Amino acid sequence: MRDGLSKDLITRVLGAAPKWTLEELEAKFPPRQLEEGAFVTRFAPSPTGFMHIGNLYGALIDYKLAQQSNGVFMLRIEDTDTKREVSGAVEIVKNAMASFGLQYNNDEKYGPYYQSKRKDIYHSVAAYLLEKGLAYPCFLKPTEMDEIRKKQTAAGFATGIYGEFARDRDLTDEEIIAHLDNGEVPSIRLYSNGNPENRIYCKDAVRGSISFPENNEDLVLIKSNDGLPTYHFAHLVDDHFMRTTHVVRGEEWLPSLPLHYQLFRTMGWMPPLYIHTSTLDKIDSETGKQRKMSKRKDAECNVDFFLTEGWPTEAVIEYLGNILASGYEDAKMKGMVKNYWEYEMKPKKIPMSGALFDMKKLEWWAKEYIATLPVPDLVKFVVGWAKEYGSDDNKKQIADIDYLTSILSIERDNPKRIRKDFITWKQTLNEIAPFFDFLFVPNKEYEYNTDALREFIMTFDENDDKDAWWQKIVCTAEKLGLKPGDVAMNLRVVMLGRTNTPDLYFVMQVLGAERVRARINMII
Ligand code: GLU
Repeated sequence: MRDGLSKDLITRVLGAAPKWTLEELEAKFPPRQLEEGAFVTRFAPSPTGFMHIGNLYGALIDYKLAQQSNGVFMLRIEDTDTKREVSGAVEIVKNAMASFGLQYNNDEKYGPYYQSKRKDIYHSVAAYLLEKGLAYPCFLKPTEMDEIRKKQTAAGFATGIYGEFARDRDLTDEEIIAHLDNGEVPSIRLYSNGNPENRIYCKDAVRGSISFPENNEDLVLIKSNDGLPTYHFAHLVDDHFMRTTHVVRGEEWLPSLPLHYQLFRTMGWMPPLYIHTSTLDKIDSETGKQRKMSKRKDAECNVDFFLTEGWPTEAVIEYLGNILASGYEDAKMKGMVKNYWEYEMKPKKIPMSGALFDMKKLEWWAKEYIATLPVPDLVKFVVGWAKEYGSDDNKKQIADIDYLTSILSIERDNPKRIRKDFITWKQTLNEIAPFFDFLFVPNKEYEYNTDALREFIMTFDENDDKDAWWQKIVCTAEKLGLKPGDVAMNLRVVMLGRTNTPDLYFVMQVLGAERVRARINMII
């Protein structure tokens, strides 16, 4: 601790008088009135223009913990790094949240939710710390800090602004005034009283208690260039006044945990409970080894990929949910819960390291999910995707909704035998492409029995029921000394160009007499 600054000096240091006292802030953002055990969580992305699958994973934990405890889930935009800002980045985040069904509840009372709009709040807390001698203005210039770093490196010391290297931590009022008169704008640093020889015990909901050496660095709380807070200070202030109970964030923040504990202690505030999530790994297709996902190498690293490629968002959530709570798959298969939202997730069980995201596994979840969709929903999703992301051909495929619906209805009426060959909306449209004349490519390689085709077409009647239809195939086969299966196979390839198709009778029903005849005539 050092001597605190006077109110006048604080006003000069911060460029304006603080708007609120600490007591006023406490009253302005009172503890939330929620039922006991309710989680208050937030997803706090920096708007970089890219939403990583790991962000979605974290946001899902936040959402789920709030949802299952009747708590509150917020979206906070961490836009204090003005250099990194990208226009349209917030829309990318909001669009992803909406697409994946992660609804946030930003109660105005605890806002604003853009950090760039909370400057007055940060400055008011900084004023308190300056007044108590727990923080100080620092006038070190970048070149001077470089000098310090060089000296430290040469002498084999840890780098940073601490102890004797923190030139300005004990400036007198007169010295501070001289700097200000000189037109210099300070940063505000914490007056750290930590000693790295001591240990600080911190808690992580998954890892339990972890000890770190105490921090002795005089962390920057408010930056000099724009008066905005650093991540550390914004986290302290926002998560206290937004009354966050659980902070879910990437494990890259784990080394900062002792700093955050120190900051909360300095304020006399209770820290939230932290949950540091593991990065998502994948199996490298070349080496077969598990590695971190890479923005450069892996398309699926970008959440947008799942939207543009038409992955069912609910299936992505189910799969991510199962990574988070490995018992979910079992509970679902046993019919104990219908979907992930009904399953209780336990923070303690979140994987601590090496969580694996495997596209093959996702395919399984997607197939299972689509198989359970009622046809109208399937149609709605496919159409919605095609309108937003589909090619011109895809858009033509959805033009006749009745035809599309009849195609997608094939083999979906028997719950025990629902086809499981649809994975994404895009692939679904690809899969059914041969039903559309403008996309149909006759199979020229297949060795057709044209006699069988000629014979069958003479007897074909679109109004036949399945038995009558099959009888005609049997008759054709008998006449020509073939097996009925051979005749059916010929028809299959004629109809859709391939040997593997859904139920042939229904395929022909959906195609209709005109197409059936045209396709047979094309071959004979
Ligand atoms: N803006 C930080 C990030 O994107 C947030 C970390 C946190 O959730 O506290 O990593």
